[in-house]
Amino acid sequence: MINTVDKTMNKRLFFALDLPDTVQQNIVQWRAAHFPPDAGRPIAAANLHLTLAFLGEVSQAKAQILQQQAGRISQSGFHVTLDDMGHWPNSGVIWLGCKNPARGLLQLAQLLRSQAARSGCYQTPLPFHPHVTLFRAAIRPVAIPAKTTSESFRVDHFSLYESVFARGRTRYNIVQSWPLTSTHRTSDAI
Ligand code: ATP
Ligand code: MG
Repeated sequence: MINTVDKTMNKRLFFALDLPDTVQQNIVQWRAAHFPPDAGRPIAAANLHLTLAFLGEVSQAKAQILQQQAGRISQSGFHVTLDDMGHWPNSGVIWLGCKNPARGLLQLAQLLRSQAARSGCYQTPLPFHPHVTLFRAAIRPVAIPAKTTSESFRVDHFSLYESVFARGRTRYNIVQSWPLTSTHRTSDAI
């Protein structure tokens, strides 16, 4: 009985980077102009994000530990440039990615993923491939545009999100955000 109650309290959580509003809007406009309407299910502008570590269904107690560990991360910010793109037909995902992901991005994801694994959140053995999902349910062949938007933005924080499915729609709510240090401040301090 207690277990059943506990399970209903679980939240579907993931660590991710949000995209600045302008970048979300630019991507959505570019997507509408460069993909056929039947390419797949387009992700809404406000839901465009870059996942760092997926945690799955997590109890409140475990979430608290993961939040404390995330709060101890001290890392510099970095740039993300979305200059790569592709289609994974098996998972039905069309994505934007980075040809040369910043080392800071890879380090942050690696750290969050290893902390998650140590807390018992299953992590896929596949290598981390930073990407922003543009379409889901893209199972048919689709012509990928020759050039990406090449949107570039500075990342100065990361967040823990809850994924909520209600009334046929998936929404992401920010649970907590943590700053990444500014490189300027670090060099000033030396
Ligand atoms: P929906 O599943 O409702 O179509 P969604 O996939 O965006 O929407 P979630 O399944 O809650 O919503 O996933 C939240 C984020 O975590 C997304 O970026 C998703 O790609 C990623 N994710 C989901 N499941 C996994 C998994 N098993 N391994 C790695 N990342 C995952
Ligand atoms: Mg999903």
